[in-house]
Amino acid sequence: MEKNTNSDYESIIRGGSKVAKGKAIFNEDICKGCELCTTVCPVNIVAMQKDKINVKGYHPSGLTDEEKCVGCTNCALICPDCVITVERY
Ligand code: SF4
Ligand code: SF4
Repeated sequence: MEKNTNSDYESIIRGGSKVAKGKAIFNEDICKGCELCTTVCPVNIVAMQKDKINVKGYHPSGLTDEEKCVGCTNCALICPDCVITVERY
């Protein structure tokens, strides 16, 4: 795995071409459909999956375009039920 250097982060902050990457993983069956995570994503890719129902009977949250995740962890931090884990690379 390639490690980001300080200059990489400076490039990101200045709007350079290198973009932070992340992967948000949802444990869909423990989601209670509260929608909090859909309000905090800076790239607006977290949404309720209206075509799915989990074991609790809720539409679970998920990603509309996982390639766009920047690994900010906002979604994981706001979730009251620890549904989401985020890997950064
Ligand atoms: S980690 Fe950040 S960018 Fe990725 S899905 Fe969650 S809120 Fe969006
Ligand atoms: S904040 Fe957690 S429990 Fe609420 S919809 Fe998102 S993943 Fe589900």
